[in-house]
Amino acid sequence: MKTCPKCETGKLSDVNDIVHDLEGYFFIAKGQRCLSCGEEYIPERELQPIIAVARRLGLWGQPLKLHRKLSKSARGTVLRIPADIERELNIKGDENVAISKRGRKIVIELE
Ligand SMILES: [Zn+2]
Repeated sequence: MKTCPKCETGKLSDVNDIVHDLEGYFFIAKGQRCLSCGEEYIPERELQPIIAVARRLGLWGQPLKLHRKLSKSARGTVLRIPADIERELNIKGDENVAISKRGRKIVIELE
């Protein structure tokens, strides 16, 4: 077994239940945990799928907040979906969405 780089005394044991917190989303990853200080290490190859999922959720590498202006049409208020979000989520423009209100936020979910 390897020695923990942090406390330099503990041994690292293989575990598969490391909870990785990314912007409030929790991912379970494989890795190693120090038997002495409890420090957890997730190897790069285990992080890749988490990063891939995070990208799909828009949590990684993309601006989380985009500013857009609403516009008015004869039938109501129109919000244009930014092209990068369309690409990211594969939006074709004929999907059904669920729109809900959470406080001052409007949440649009693809169905
Ligand atoms: Zn340690």
